[in-house]
Amino acid sequence: IEDRLFRNVMGSFATGVTVITTEVAEEVHGMTANAFMSISLNPKLVAISIGENAKMLQHIKDAKQFAINILSSDQEIVSKQFSGQLNLKSEMTFESYKGLPVLEGSLAIVTCVLHSEFVAGDHTIFIGHVTGVQLEEKAPLLYSQGKYRELKELEG
Ligand code: FAD
Ligand code: NAD
Repeated sequence: IEDRLFRNVMGSFATGVTVITTEVAEEVHGMTANAFMSISLNPKLVAISIGENAKMLQHIKDAKQFAINILSSDQEIVSKQFSGQLNLKSEMTFESYKGLPVLEGSLAIVTCVLHSEFVAGDHTIFIGHVTGVQLEEKAPLLYSQGKYRELKELEG
């Protein structure tokens, strides 16, 4: 299977967009990720998948905790900043929640301590044990077929 076809097929599964954040040696790091899912209700577990070349991989191993910032529809530039497509470092504002840096203006926040990790091919799946959640009344930012999109409710 050709890589481009695989990515086009995976990109046809519409997702939200998150920025994973953590702090190591008083330095805040963020990375855009759409490989995020809810895993278990009791105990409360979630999963993210991080590529072997991403700097975030080692940061999570070092910090042993991370936050998932679920982006709102007005945070497209935040997604672009944390995927290396923009350089607006000074404009990103963090708050502190449960001892982790989180992004101001997010739709929702999930904070985790590292529960377990599994190497799968060229990615590592990190399972997080949820320590805190926050939810705002906002619309989600969506990502589908390589483009940012907004939610539209169907009639009927
Ligand atoms: P860096 O390259 O160091 O950081 C990424 C960017 O964030 C850089 O531009 C950096 O300047 C900026 N940044 C970091 N910290 C801060 C800070 N404190 N303040 C301001 N800016 C900061 N990759 C995956 O492995 N898994 C996924 O699920 C995934 N999903 C993606 C979904 C989308 C929609 C997109 C566009 C990309 C996705 N990627 C995913 C790719 C990933 O976001 C990029 O490869 C990213 O550049 C890897 O970042 P890094 O950890 O190597 O860190
Ligand atoms: P794209 O067409 O590369 O991605 C479409 C879909 O393919 C993604 O949503 C993801 O499900 C999958 N995908 C893409 N790259 C992957 C990878 N290296 N490993 C596993 N799955 C991957 O979309 P794009 O807009 O060209 O992406 C921008 C950049 O972000 C690219 O460099 C892409 O590789 C990266 N990205 C990585 C992941 C990931 O590692 N899970 C997810 C999304 C985007």
